[in-house]
Amino acid sequence: MTHSNAPILVTGGAGYIGSHTVRLLAGQGKKIVVLDNLVFGHDQAIIDPDVELVVGEVGDQELVRSLFAKYQFGAVIHFAAYAYVGESVTNPLKYYQNNTAEPIKLLQVMEEFGCKVFVFSSTCATYGVPDKLPITEANRQAPINPYGKSKLMVEWILADCGTAWGLKSACLRYFNASGCSPDGLIGEDHNPETHLIPRVMMAVTGEIDCLEVFGTDYETPDGTCIRDYIHVEDLADAHARALDHLAAGGASVACNLGTGVGVSVKEIISAVEQITGKTVPVKYGPRREGDPASLVADPALAEKLLGWVASRKNINDMVRPAWIWTSGANGGRYPQNKKPT
Ligand code: UDP
Repeated sequence: MTHSNAPILVTGGAGYIGSHTVRLLAGQGKKIVVLDNLVFGHDQAIIDPDVELVVGEVGDQELVRSLFAKYQFGAVIHFAAYAYVGESVTNPLKYYQNNTAEPIKLLQVMEEFGCKVFVFSSTCATYGVPDKLPITEANRQAPINPYGKSKLMVEWILADCGTAWGLKSACLRYFNASGCSPDGLIGEDHNPETHLIPRVMMAVTGEIDCLEVFGTDYETPDGTCIRDYIHVEDLADAHARALDHLAAGGASVACNLGTGVGVSVKEIISAVEQITGKTVPVKYGPRREGDPASLVADPALAEKLLGWVASRKNINDMVRPAWIWTSGANGGRYPQNKKPT
């Protein structure tokens, strides 16, 4: 039986969205155990001393069983996943193994231990090219790459586990996670970094020669792609609400997490120039394969079901903390070589 003060297992809690969520939940006084293999996560992203980091694989059932036996988790938040869309096309099995097969092993242990609350990092990539905008949960889910498919399959698996053994799940379909904690203590540090805002920052600091804009001939007002940039702390807040909702006996949910505001690549560049006071060196290139022109959420369902709304909707609210992180002591990177042995 789930109770709201039972410890929570957070897989991938040392990653970008995971670490911001762990920080929020730990600040609420919740007991958090992070399971992360640190392939992409950073031990230094876990700043609360009461949070325990276990370095290991989600699919290591012996390890996960030992953690369940020790902590009797009331819920699992599952962030751990690979998220490079292009790589998922060239190496699909890596994505189906890590993003789909590994959580099955985790769910098997949850079933064994009677843990029935699961909050899942899903994605707007499960919609593919939207059949209408803004995207509601009634949109067709037709992912166009293995990454999106690997996530959608887990959504289906969670629904089936709900039918079979009463699992309650929240599938949170993120739009474009961005920003970081405004104190700059934790932030976004991917390697390789492919995301737009960090790459614009890298162009500003000279870490890369210039920002390449992928396509200027889209059917959008300025010809560049439009996305819905959602602050990572707002995403964290949605996870906290989803946990509370399920722990209180609420029904399973699947909902979009976005602002409902579309921002173009050119508008991001302008925002960065305004906030940093520097010129972004830009090169205009061809479209990147698989990029829909426009992806914007209708976030109404998350408000209705979870009482969640994005507290920050202006792109400056995402870019400003990203600049604090980038221009801080570590230049937007966690210091290396401090992983536990
Ligand atoms: N983009 C770009 N140059 C870059 C990285 C991204 O023009 O170096 C564009 C990309 O084509 C997309 C938007 O910025 O339209 C956001 O891309 P990102 O990879 O951050 O997120 P995605 O929407 O692909 O998940």
